[in-house]
Amino acid sequence: MKSFDEYLHDAEIAHGHLCAGQVLGVRMAMLGLEKLGLEDPRGRDRKRLVTFVEIDRCATDAVAVVTGCRLGKRALKFRDWGKMAATFADLETGRAIRISAKESSKELARQMHPEIESKGKQQMLAYREMSADDLFSTEWVIVELNPWDMPGYKGPRIACAACGEGISFQREIEREGKTLCRGCAGEGYYKPLK
Ligand SMILES: [Zn+2]
Ligand SMILES: [Zn+2]
Repeated sequence: MKSFDEYLHDAEIAHGHLCAGQVLGVRMAMLGLEKLGLEDPRGRDRKRLVTFVEIDRCATDAVAVVTGCRLGKRALKFRDWGKMAATFADLETGRAIRISAKESSKELARQMHPEIESKGKQQMLAYREMSADDLFSTEWVIVELNPWDMPGYKGPRIACAACGEGISFQREIEREGKTLCRGCAGEGYYKPLK
């Protein structure tokens, strides 16, 4: 594992700027790895870890940098819950820990550094200095991953009966005897321009 400052530097480059979210995300991921006892997430342990993130904000990028878990490797799972939390799951031992940022940490940052006017800068400094207990709640959990949600899963591609596009990882839906993609089954996030 690298040092906090090294990870923060990597996170700043990957994310495009340094912010309180980078500090939070680096600390969250380092704590998760530490609790799981994973020392080399981007090397020796790189196939052991799956990380679930619950928000698409700054900190999420830092979590990906530290853990090495990426969407394209299927090791980063996004659950759009709007919560500043992540769960780190060790596929080898079956152990998993969910870590969430405490709401109270914002108020604590104000108390620690009232002299800093900018909220972002105040939090950036305070989140470095705060104890892990003041910053995070942690909980050991069980994560049950379907075989087709595992990184490296090889399975058939099914064609949607309506649009003909291929669907991987068992994301197809059976509707009135037809196999449909989620878009054609009515879950679309877009509409054709007519
Ligand atoms: Zn940011
Ligand atoms: Zn379709």
